[in-house]
Amino acid sequence: MTQTELDHQFMLRAIELAGNAEAEGEVPVGAVVVHNGVVIGEGWNRLIGQHDATAHAEMMALRQAGKVLQNYRLLDATLYVTLEPCPMCASAMVHSRIGKVVYGASDAKTGAAGSVMNLLSYDGVNHHVAYQGGVLDVECREQLQAFFRRRRAEKKVEKDARRAALAAEGSEMLEKPKRTPKNVTADKND
Ligand SMILES: [Zn+2]
Repeated sequence: MTQTELDHQFMLRAIELAGNAEAEGEVPVGAVVVHNGVVIGEGWNRLIGQHDATAHAEMMALRQAGKVLQNYRLLDATLYVTLEPCPMCASAMVHSRIGKVVYGASDAKTGAAGSVMNLLSYDGVNHHVAYQGGVLDVECREQLQAFFRRRRAEKKVEKDARRAALAAEGSEMLEKPKRTPKNVTADKND
């Protein structure tokens, strides 16, 4: 297998893991850590489920990989993730001394591997992490976009239902017989 074929194989696994996140109502991002050709860490977004802002796919995969190797340093490992890492995850990758990071879709909003900033290769930091973006980026981006499209549609349905309920409530109130204050005019002339 060529390196490109291997990259695709592991990215496909990351996409599969992102599906787990989606099934749990989380933004679909998945990650795997590979060492000597073997997957030693897997993760998917679990922020909501674990009440943990740090439970990004990459963090989960790094944690598992560290336990497997019994070492927080993941020197010769490669991390595959479906979305360009955020600043927190990029920093964790630097701390883990991971060998290489391969990501799928780039993230124009919070991407910290070149899009908004570059923490994997930052002048002031002495450890630089090799990285490569755009691997199966169409598939990775489509998975995310489909999720957000579906979520927007669901929110619209909710909103419409709420609006309809409010409108029904309003028309009910309008239908109630109006009570006219009979004594108002009389009182005025007292
Ligand atoms: Zn992150």
